[in-house]
Amino acid sequence: MSSPPLVRFAGVQKTYDGLSLVVRSLDLEIQRGEFLSLLGPSGSGKTTTLMMLAGFESPTAGEILLDGAPITKTPPHKRNFGMVFQNYALFPHMTVADNVGYPLTVRKVPKAEIAQRVAKALDMVQLGGKGDRYPAQLSGGQQQRVALARALVFQPQLVLMDEPLGALDKQLREHMQIELKELHRQLGITFVYVTHDQGEALTMSDRVAVFNDGEIQQIDAVERLYETPSNRFVAGFVGDSTLLTATTASANHDACEIVLPSGERLSGINVNHVHPGTSVVASVRPERIEAWFTPPENEGNTIKAAITDVIYFGDHLRLRCAIAGQALATVKLPLSRGEQPVAGQAVWLHIPTPYLRVYA
Ligand code: ADP
Ligand code: MG
Repeated sequence: MSSPPLVRFAGVQKTYDGLSLVVRSLDLEIQRGEFLSLLGPSGSGKTTTLMMLAGFESPTAGEILLDGAPITKTPPHKRNFGMVFQNYALFPHMTVADNVGYPLTVRKVPKAEIAQRVAKALDMVQLGGKGDRYPAQLSGGQQQRVALARALVFQPQLVLMDEPLGALDKQLREHMQIELKELHRQLGITFVYVTHDQGEALTMSDRVAVFNDGEIQQIDAVERLYETPSNRFVAGFVGDSTLLTATTASANHDACEIVLPSGERLSGINVNHVHPGTSVVASVRPERIEAWFTPPENEGNTIKAAITDVIYFGDHLRLRCAIAGQALATVKLPLSRGEQPVAGQAVWLHIPTPYLRVYA
């Protein structure tokens, strides 16, 4: 049995101009204590969704509930959520300690207790001893940690973050991703995190809601999202995929056989329950393809290709393969001691049926 959700969006819609819905009809439950990411391309409605939860924007239809009670008319400061955004929005004229203590000051917490809690919050983000500095004296990553300490210091039950690591360089961003995940584990607070970076979402989250065009396309635990995308958009947006265009030759509810323009036939999972004769895209993760360098005797689900590129990635090899009538296919191979494949070589690509997902 799952416990009642902390937050529920019920039929929430949003339009800014009265014409186009930037959030179409959102039904979303956020579980207590989870790390949920809202992932999607730019303009897909992630920030609008977060702003409605924060209270800075109002839904044009539907209701948002916190612990079962409507909060749609509750102003932002009464919702008591921690918030961190990309442009840190620290107060430049205040010290780091005063910035972090600000949410406690406005809540009229006694001074001695503020000092204590600020010190603890700064330790938590590894900025102990930096309380007397001013924001301008800190690096971008340090400023973002101050913003995080400020969002956590009043022990909110929910922390909202909108691309908080977007301005940091790759190395620092990856470091902060691990720290954020660790903080979430320690504190047990509910995190809602907006990002357009699928790697970031997969690394940190318990669950991910994939947005496109104002709608959630799929919401799932990260492994399920990666292994079993529910439509063409999610398959293409989350992780690398090799795609094949084809037509369905035969189909039942769960399985189908497709025929490629080259005439080759493959069997796969009929994800969207298409009928025979439908144009489809079949998708497979590059690490699930087996590459054979001699013609197979009698093996099904194999297509003939030619290697155009062999790229050494340190921990694996990546082949780019030309298949008649298709875009270049990517194959990830574990390093082996055997003979190395070379460009120009013929290759037979075996795709086990359970990993070939066929989308409408
Ligand atoms: P995301 O965060 O996924 O990039 P947004 O929620 O910011 O998406 O934007 C969704 C759509 O709403 C976009 O088309 C954007 O231009 C539009 N939009 C966002 N904020 C406003 C606003 N304040 N006024 C008018 N249109 C807006
Ligand atoms: Mg945004």
